[in-house]
Amino acid sequence: MLYQRRIAENQVVSAKLELQLRGSRYAGVGTHVMGMAAVAMATWFVVDTLPLLTAALGFLIPNLWWSRRINKTLETHRHFTQRPTVMNELLAFAALTGLFWTSAVVWLDAYLPDITFYLVVMTIALLSVVNIAVSVAVRPVYLTYIVTSLVAMALWLAWNADQRPYNPVATVTLSILAGFLIISSDWMSCSFSEMVETSLERAAMSKDLASLTESLKTRNLQLQDARQQLAQQATIDELTGLRNRRGVNMVINDEMARLKRSQSPMTVMAIDVDHFKFYNDTYGHPAGDVVLQRLANVMLELTERAGEFAARMGGEEFVLFFPNVGNEDAANLAEELRSRIEALQILHETSQTAAHVTISIGVLCCVPDWDIEFDQLLKSADEALYTSKTTGRNRFTFVEAELESED
Ligand code: GH3
Ligand code: MG
Ligand code: MG
Repeated sequence: MLYQRRIAENQVVSAKLELQLRGSRYAGVGTHVMGMAAVAMATWFVVDTLPLLTAALGFLIPNLWWSRRINKTLETHRHFTQRPTVMNELLAFAALTGLFWTSAVVWLDAYLPDITFYLVVMTIALLSVVNIAVSVAVRPVYLTYIVTSLVAMALWLAWNADQRPYNPVATVTLSILAGFLIISSDWMSCSFSEMVETSLERAAMSKDLASLTESLKTRNLQLQDARQQLAQQATIDELTGLRNRRGVNMVINDEMARLKRSQSPMTVMAIDVDHFKFYNDTYGHPAGDVVLQRLANVMLELTERAGEFAARMGGEEFVLFFPNVGNEDAANLAEELRSRIEALQILHETSQTAAHVTISIGVLCCVPDWDIEFDQLLKSADEALYTSKTTGRNRFTFVEAELESED
């Protein structure tokens, strides 16, 4: 369905009023002033200068005042919440201007010869035609002007039909012109309304679109965040907070590549809790979970340096990774881990190794060659772990990978 934006009626009226004011302040006032100049020139040698100048100034000054007033109104009320006041002022000024022209015709009728008189009447009629362009946005204002100028003049001429030879013709001409302007002002005013509505619609739609784009951007950022969180959650073991196998896969290739490039040593430890099945059987699965968490905390403490990590590979099996750690440090670290876990003194009555929870460790050390994979190292560490298991548990077994290049 096509998106369409409805514009409130008062918004359209307000915009039309603004258009009307903008049209009247210079063009409207200017037209009347020019009209005044034309009439003054045409009547200069016939009418006494003083009354003529007085009338001209009496017309000019209110027009200039009106122009200034419109400017002020436009500055202060951009959205015409004071609509009735502005509207009444517009109507009043249109009526006054129209009546001024009619009075001028009535006054000049006593002085002017026929030709000049009809010239003045036609000039004023011309003003009505020109004015349609600047004051039709709010049609009642234009109609007020037409009624008080053209229609009133036509009535005056009809009333004095026998005073001058062409008064009847002028009456008919002015009446036809007034009728034509009244009809065409309706048509023009409707076009104005449509134009204003369309432009308001377009402005409102582009505003809507901008805020839609903005909210889409925010939504996108939220989605990105959520995706990052999900990805992170997928790499972390829920019970212990350590990396899971996926978390290991995410980083291990980069780490290994770095070590391969720099030909630095590395250590991998495979860890398994001793007789953990018995622990669960004796103390229950939830207690077993707590044990796994406590062991994980110790492993985290031991892998705090950059690049190091502890991971839970499944069940009660863990892996520790130490870049830049060689043979001797590896053995020390493994012993440190074993003894720290022993020092937790977690009671394990059914263990066949000790009175408390212990772990067995397989330690592998190497300087990785280019063609070596982490899984191969893990397999060797697991084999070392198996040796620890078969030779009494609660211990570590140390192996150096055959591929290592240290002397
Ligand atoms: P071994 O010394 O040979 O390793 O003996 P074990 O009993 O530890 O080994 P086994 O592989 O037979 O049993 C592992 C046990 O670990 C079995 C299972 O109940 C327990 N386990 C695995 N995952 C979890 C877990 O998430 N929570 C708890 N509480 N126990 C777990
Ligand atoms: Mg196991
Ligand atoms: Mg075990």
